[in-house]
Formats: sequence, structure tokens, C-alpha cells
Amino acid sequence: MLENINSAAAPAAYDVVVIGAGPVGLACALEAQRRGLSVCVVDKGALVNSLVGYPTNMEFFSTPELLEIGGYPFPTAHYKPLREDALDYYRRVAVAENLTLRLYERVLRLTGTPGAYEVVTEKGTLATRFVIVATGFFDVPNRLGVPGEDAPHVSYYYKEPYAHMGQSVVIIGAKNSAAKAALQLVRAGAQVTLVVRGAAVSESVKYWIRPDLLNRIAEGRIRAFYHTTVQSISAAGVTVVTPGGEQQLPADYVYALTGYRPDYSLLEALGVSFQDDAARTPTHNPETFETNRLGVFLAGTVCGGLNTSRWFIENGRHHAAIIAARLAEPQAD
Ligand SMILES: Cc1cc2nc3c(=O)[nH]c(=O)nc-3n(C[C@H](O)[C@H](O)[C@H](O)COP(=O)(O)OP(=O)(O)OC[C@H]3O[C@@H](n4cnc5c(N)ncnc54)[C@H](O)[C@@H]3O)c2cc1C
Repeated sequence: MLENINSAAAPAAYDVVVIGAGPVGLACALEAQRRGLSVCVVDKGALVNSLVGYPTNMEFFSTPELLEIGGYPFPTAHYKPLREDALDYYRRVAVAENLTLRLYERVLRLTGTPGAYEVVTEKGTLATRFVIVATGFFDVPNRLGVPGEDAPHVSYYYKEPYAHMGQSVVIIGAKNSAAKAALQLVRAGAQVTLVVRGAAVSESVKYWIRPDLLNRIAEGRIRAFYHTTVQSISAAGVTVVTPGGEQQLPADYVYALTGYRPDYSLLEALGVSFQDDAARTPTHNPETFETNRLGVFLAGTVCGGLNTSRWFIENGRHHAAIIAARLAEPQAD
């Protein structure tokens, strides 16, 4: 069910507001709804907005059964699902469960007290007893922090290679996204240069992708610079500092695939505090997923803070049943 609120109308009231219509947010919503709670899912973008932003025809590294939510089978023609299969799957689940969705409505902050919260969005206010924050990590890129990073020919998000045939493309990064983009781009006729801060392409790159990339580098089809940092970006190219000194790399286009981080300003506006650890972990009880703010829970990737590979769909989806069971307890608030 699609809803929209008008700020002039009386606040809608729910047992649970889920912030984020990603795979984990949807799992939380359906598990809570199945326990008799009224639930609304609010997303600042489309349904499964992060997946909408992933590369065209991207193949998940997970097999389909590990991405399933709510017990719905995820049939695919291939061993690994594509982005498009997942977009279709999660839409079908949301429709089958008749979830109440408020899409293209950004959550701004949380007011009120435990048991009587108000989720303030850019379009109005939602009254709720509980809040589940499943906002993932894909909205805030780890920026390079160098002059020129906001130029129109620089992007932190890679979609597909076809616009770059015959162009010089610099890719900054050494993990899965950078590796996959480099391989696609070179096969689509781009001249690809990979800029890697560390000594090598990350060992965390999937075992079926890493050798492919290393072989393309070894045969000279992809140029790679290791121990190299970016100093600035301009229309003339990317200025890097290599172990051999400064160099200018030609670049018609630059992909900075340097990862993403949770939206900490949103977490602060929701009243969630952070741990003083390397991952800046949002404070939550690892058994119940309840945060320092009573009745406000975290689910999915956001739980890991800067450690964005700690929780993903495969393991993050299981947060839903744990949280929903807690919310359905007689005196949960
Ligand atoms: C290229 C790529 C490939 C991946 N492949 C796999 C894989 O094969 N297997 C796997 O298990 N994981 C994979 N992952 C990781 C996985 O996709 C994420 O961990 C997953 O999306 C987490 O789900 P989530 O519901 O926690 O967050 P997300 O899917 O990121 O959903 C968060 C939602 O919150 C919304 N939101 C954010 N801020 C606000 C706000 N202020 N107001 C309202 N809504 C807001 C966003 O729009 C978004 O829709 C991959 C990730 C990437 C980047």
C-alpha cells in the first residue's frame, strides 16, 4: 500500500515506523506486521533505493536463498541473482505483504518520548511507539577530500561502462566495486587506470574476480598504480603521488569507488549515540538491537557503523525476527 502524508493532516499513528525500505527494513516491517503490529516504512527514495543505485545487471555475490526475506522463495534463472532479479523480488514481497510504504519522503529527526515518538519527515509527522532504523550505508560516500572531487566528470557511484568507449577512465579504489568496474570498462573499450592506495588489489575482492583483474593488469590492458594517492582532479586529469613521484594521469572520467558510510548526521538527529571505537559503532545492545534511545532499534548494515561489511543482507535480514519478537512482547515499551 502506498501512502503519502500531508503536513496539514493529523499525524498518522503506528506501532512501528521503519526508516529505510532496503531488504532489511522490509524484513523488519513484515516480521512486525505478522506479529499484529501496525507498521509504516518510510524511505527517502525508491523501494530498495540502494539496490536501484547499484550497477546495471550487477550480479550479487550471494546465492538467492541467502537474500530471501519473510520465507518467500527467490527464484532465479542463474546461480547468482542479478540486481534486476532482486529489485523484482523485493517489490513482490512488499506487495504480497501489503506493506504500508511512504517513498520519496526523507526522515529528518525524532521527537517525543519512549512509547510516544514522532518521526518527523520532510512531508509531515508520524506518531509511533517504536522506531527501527535500517538506513544502510550507501548514501554517504567516503570522499577523497581533494580539490576537484566535485567536478562533473567525477562520480562516487558506478552504473555501467557503455558511455566510456574510447575514453580514459581513472578508477580509485581496490575493492570489489572498483575491480568489477575496471573489468567491465576495459571490456567496453575504455582505457582504464586503477589507483590503489595500498600495496595490492584487496585480498577481500571475491576469489572469482581478483585473478581476472590481476591477469588484465599483468597483460597491460589495465594500468595499475599501487602505494599511490590522489592529490587533485582537474579537467586535465588526475594528479597522483606514486612511490616514484608526482604524475598526471589522463582522465575523461573518474570513478572514486572508495566505499560508503552510514549517515551519522541522521543517527544523531534520531538521538542515537556512538561508541568510541574504530568503527564508530552506533550504540545498541547486540542481543536486542535496541539503541541508547528506548524503543529505537537498529537493523542491518547500519549496526556496524564504519565497518560496513560486518552486516549485509545475508546476515542482517535475521535482525528482523529478533526485533519483531521483542516489539510484540506485552510490555515492550
Ligand atoms: C555493489 C554491492 C553489492 C552487494 N552485494 C551483496 C550481496 O551479494 N549479498 C549481500 O548480502 N549483500 C550485498 N551487498 C551489501 C548489501 O546490499 C547491503 O548491506 C544491504 O543493502 C543492506 O540492507 P539494508 O536494508 O541494511 O540497507 P539499504 O539496502 O542500504 O537500505 C537503506 C535504505 O534507507 C534509506 N534511507 C537512508 N536515509 C534515510 C532517511 N533519512 N529517510 C528515509 N530513508 C532513508 C535509503 O534510501 C535506503 O533505501 C552489496 C552492496 C553493494 C554496494
